[in-house]
Amino acid sequence: MSLMDSPLYRDAVAQLEKSASIMGLDPNIMERLKYPKRALQVAVPIRLDDGTVKTFQGYRVQHNMTLGPGKGGIRFHPKVDLSETAGLAMLMTFKCALVGLPLGGAKGGISVDPTTLSRQELQGLTRRYTTEINMMVGPTIDVPAPDIGTDGQTMAWFMDTYSQLKGYTVPGVVTGKPITVGGSLGRAEATGKGVAFCVNFAAKKMGMKIGKSTTVAIHGFGKVAIPAAQDLRDQGAKIVAISDVSGAVYNKDGIDVAKAIEWTRSGKHLKDMDGIEKITNDQLLTLDVDILIPAAIDGVITKDNAPNVKAKMIAEGANGPLTKEAIEILSEKGAFIIPDILCNAGGVIVSYFEWVQGLQNFFWDLGQINSKLHDILRDAFDNVYEASQEYKVDMKKAAFIAAFRRLERAMRYRGLFPG
Ligand code: GLU
Repeated sequence: MSLMDSPLYRDAVAQLEKSASIMGLDPNIMERLKYPKRALQVAVPIRLDDGTVKTFQGYRVQHNMTLGPGKGGIRFHPKVDLSETAGLAMLMTFKCALVGLPLGGAKGGISVDPTTLSRQELQGLTRRYTTEINMMVGPTIDVPAPDIGTDGQTMAWFMDTYSQLKGYTVPGVVTGKPITVGGSLGRAEATGKGVAFCVNFAAKKMGMKIGKSTTVAIHGFGKVAIPAAQDLRDQGAKIVAISDVSGAVYNKDGIDVAKAIEWTRSGKHLKDMDGIEKITNDQLLTLDVDILIPAAIDGVITKDNAPNVKAKMIAEGANGPLTKEAIEILSEKGAFIIPDILCNAGGVIVSYFEWVQGLQNFFWDLGQINSKLHDILRDAFDNVYEASQEYKVDMKKAAFIAAFRRLERAMRYRGLFPG
């Protein structure tokens, strides 16, 4: 597959073109934004526990670095390919610009199912991948972070390998690290917390009060979904449905979130928990709830099921859970959509805090981190909302417009090299 052939890449370019034409983005700027700046494909051979060698394909793509070093996660998933990685890197450019970070957009990944590898094999995979892409990353160049299939442990191995190659510890090379090796307080929960903040900002605009009568369905129950569920539950909302790889579960009186967290953390499937009813993923997505949070994977709401979605507010916790047709259908129906590059930006915002803390070796307290996270997201939300009113477009297009305004200014000031 060529660099720009995947559905995700084409979708990202289509959204770029659409919003660019609405706002009248400088065509020379758009011409540059359609292509990633730099892309690397690497072979990642590892020795499996049975002694045989297996080679995986790895990638790192930097889309645009006008605003600062590249930033974006590393994904371990069988679907990862060069073009999907490039599309996700492009979305990171827009996400960082939208929330005002001095960072560009990048993404990386390996085409692998990490659940099939042992801890030792995963460590070997991460260390070899780091070695293969090390010339392209660094605290002032490109700073990876966790994404689907990777976590704090992956980042610790990445940081250690990079540091071994340099001969000294370089905490600023990745974010999302465990606290004891230079991670930031609040990073693990940041994406989900940001989702809950955005849900509250949207509720205010809609005149909806988050409380005992608010019902929420969440697709997923992982790194993003859990903190979002906890925060909304703490505000009194009823989490009526969640899901994992085994399918979706439902309880009309509200799922016991604490129990479900304990259950999944002990490695058990949600479907085996008592006090719940098993439903299909499609039933979860089309439940008659106030708020729907697709927080697992991309492309779960399409033109086929969008007409049946009943939620008044949809918060895109995952990257790209609604296809562009689904966004059109649901916006037309009057649903309030909080777009992914805003809704899940909490992760990269606290990654930015972690990067700054690592560069200065000076660490902040959690209260400071969460209040800065809240304020950055609130300002970005207001910018997007204003753009949606000004151009009379849905929040998705408005988010791109708000991001392009900042990028356009910066790219114009910096100009085109060599001229
Ligand atoms: N992978 C996350 C995202 O898609 C986080 C990126 C980061 O923290 O750099 O936004």
